[in-house]
Amino acid sequence: MSGVEKDLEELSKLAVTLGASRAKPVPVGVIVVDERVQLKCRYPPCPFYGRNRMCPPFTPTAEEFRKYLAMYRHALIVQLDVPLTEDIKSRIRGDVKLEELFLDGDFSSVLRREGRQAWKLLNHVISGIERESFRRGYRFAVGFAAGSCPLCDECDVSAPCKHPLEARPSMEAMGIDVQRTLEKAGLGIEWGARDTVTLTGLVLID
Ligand code: SF4
Repeated sequence: MSGVEKDLEELSKLAVTLGASRAKPVPVGVIVVDERVQLKCRYPPCPFYGRNRMCPPFTPTAEEFRKYLAMYRHALIVQLDVPLTEDIKSRIRGDVKLEELFLDGDFSSVLRREGRQAWKLLNHVISGIERESFRRGYRFAVGFAAGSCPLCDECDVSAPCKHPLEARPSMEAMGIDVQRTLEKAGLGIEWGARDTVTLTGLVLID
């Protein structure tokens, strides 16, 4: 086993120790970047577009990110399975339409409040892996989490970030097609899950 393979294996174990459900080292070639992912941040309009420092348009474009990605060799995909609370489950039961959920401000605030700990945990795992990678000499290690940054109650985009060592953009914010990437990596993601959602993050290591 080469030095980097050993490091990736140990970093995978660290991810689980920090709280991840699983972590898998993958070649960078499985990561799919598609401009349309960032288009979907705009339409239908995401409430965090331009209102969270870790979201577009503050993040690199997919075209820029593709150039950065080409310079990396190693990556670690990290997943966190999160059981849905009874409150959230009761709201998505039956034949409720996505549009109804999307327009339901109450649902959005419940989702954000109850899901926030899980999003924070993913940030914690991703920044922990990034930090340990850096400590082992991978000076360009950089991590990506999921969703908008959950670390502050409100993100003030006009002020410096309050948690620069932990705040990280989502994979989608960089234009990564998470579903295609997971398919190519041999990992799953279940759409329309009613009991558990899986959050996915990524650390590029070099
Ligand atoms: S840590 Fe706070 S200020 Fe920084 S991006 Fe996240 S929400 Fe915004």
